[in-house]
Amino acid sequence: MKALNYINGAWCESKSGMTAPVINPADGKTIGHVTLSTEEDVRQAVRAAKAAQKEWALVPAPQRAEVLYKVGFLLKEKKERLARILTMEMGKVIEEARGEVQEGIDMAFYMAGEGRRLFGETTPSELKDKFAMSVRVPVGVVGIITPWNFPIAIATWKSFPAIVAGNAVVWKPASETPLMAQELAKIFEEAGLPKGVFNVVNGTGPTVGSALVEHPDVRAISFTGSNEVGRGIAEKCGRLLKKVSLEMGGKNAVIVMDDADLSLAVEGILWSAFGTSGQRCTSCSRVIVHEKVKEELEERLLEAMKTLKVGNGLDETVKVGPVINEAALKKIHEYVQIGKAEGARLLAGGEILAEGELAKGFYYAPTLFTDVKPDMRIAKEEIFGPVLSVMRAGSLEEAIAINNAVDYGLSSAIFTRDVNRAFRAMRDLDTGIVYINAGTTGAEIHLPFGGTKGTGNGHRDSGTASLDVFTEWRSVYVDFSGKLQRAQIDIDPESGREENPGSAQGDAGIGKEGGKA
Ligand code: NDP
Repeated sequence: MKALNYINGAWCESKSGMTAPVINPADGKTIGHVTLSTEEDVRQAVRAAKAAQKEWALVPAPQRAEVLYKVGFLLKEKKERLARILTMEMGKVIEEARGEVQEGIDMAFYMAGEGRRLFGETTPSELKDKFAMSVRVPVGVVGIITPWNFPIAIATWKSFPAIVAGNAVVWKPASETPLMAQELAKIFEEAGLPKGVFNVVNGTGPTVGSALVEHPDVRAISFTGSNEVGRGIAEKCGRLLKKVSLEMGGKNAVIVMDDADLSLAVEGILWSAFGTSGQRCTSCSRVIVHEKVKEELEERLLEAMKTLKVGNGLDETVKVGPVINEAALKKIHEYVQIGKAEGARLLAGGEILAEGELAKGFYYAPTLFTDVKPDMRIAKEEIFGPVLSVMRAGSLEEAIAINNAVDYGLSSAIFTRDVNRAFRAMRDLDTGIVYINAGTTGAEIHLPFGGTKGTGNGHRDSGTASLDVFTEWRSVYVDFSGKLQRAQIDIDPESGREENPGSAQGDAGIGKEGGKA
């Protein structure tokens, strides 16, 4: 299979004529090739998007939404096929791949519903015979840059709200997962989206991603990926006064209190630490446990980890698939060495798995460290692999302080049966997402997704919050008085307010009352 660019409703090779292989991380086999684009390919896509957007913005939003309903039904119809490609392309186990496609389906129907909402506000005017409202208008052409760990879900979180709001999209998928991008573009094509509204340009971040960020006709960038790349994009967008939304991962923790249901906590920790081989931005990489139950929790965790079968994600009995590539495998292993050198105690795992069939892919053993201190690198930096660090706390306050003492702020969780502790945690945990009696993963698409500090820059994916990224607010005033009425100045005297309060102090006059521009 060859992943091509999709520009202006046509499938095309890049101008460079160069390609790169797409590798199945489960067995190292080449499952396709991807065209590697140039800056000129980006310019061509942006031109097409700009032209298409003008027409698309004039289509009534409920009609725009009809395309998303079709996209939702097509995703549903093709769910199993898509899930299998997803597993082969990035390695997550098939059950999770199905869940990821379902996220896209949910997003399609949810955002299609927005076609009949896209609410603005109506509000009273301060003047007689005048009407005031705010409406959302599309920003224009939006650039979307996504990672490989959720190759379809993240693209749907970003492109569906953008499209229903009347924008055109140019999408640069991750180099590792172009096949899923191709599948999503095919679905838009089949659903009848007008040409040019959704475009895909494959290629590397430094070439294609940068060109998209720098292009003057791209009015907003929505990015998910590493903190380092996100910062660079934000700097460029700042210079260009371009809207930019960033989602850049986390160092997420589960807090386990001494009153917790430990069986439930173990299940939640296992799922959120080792699901997707620890490569979710919401993956749990720290457990902060009350000292009274630390030993018991560790014993139970070690027991439960024995049930985690590692292997090819297409095997329904496998719980932990491969990591994305060899570089990731090396990075994870390096962090394990760092952890040992820092004095953390390795309880399980800590090795690259290379026995039998596993030698062909990129597998890391689910790993558990204990006696980890908050200032250790493994407790602070995003490892993005199946490595979990257990830390001790003597109280809820201490646990929350440890949770908050990292540069990221995406997701946190607490297991407790005490409603007072639960509510204190909801208030004091400094993350965009908080779970009570569940692990750190499991976001639902109709709530805002994103976080504080190094995780983001104040914007959110998903939910109606995502519409704020892809729309501008326009305030509209309709004066039906037939005369010039000046806001803040021509106030009706019968309203009881002084017509010109400044004059009482003898300082009336043009420029004194001013009023807003
Ligand atoms: P990156 O941030 O490098 O990649 C994310 C996306 O940005 C990819 O499409 C990438 O393109 C693109 N990109 C890279 N450089 C630029 C650039 N200069 N300008 C514009 N776009 C660019 O993440 P990686 O996939 O390399 O993963 C590295 C680490 O990032 C992980 O180990 C993890 O810590 C973190 N991460 C966090 C994620 C999250 O969900 N928040 C998701 C993925 C990674 P391409 O890769 O094709 O060159």
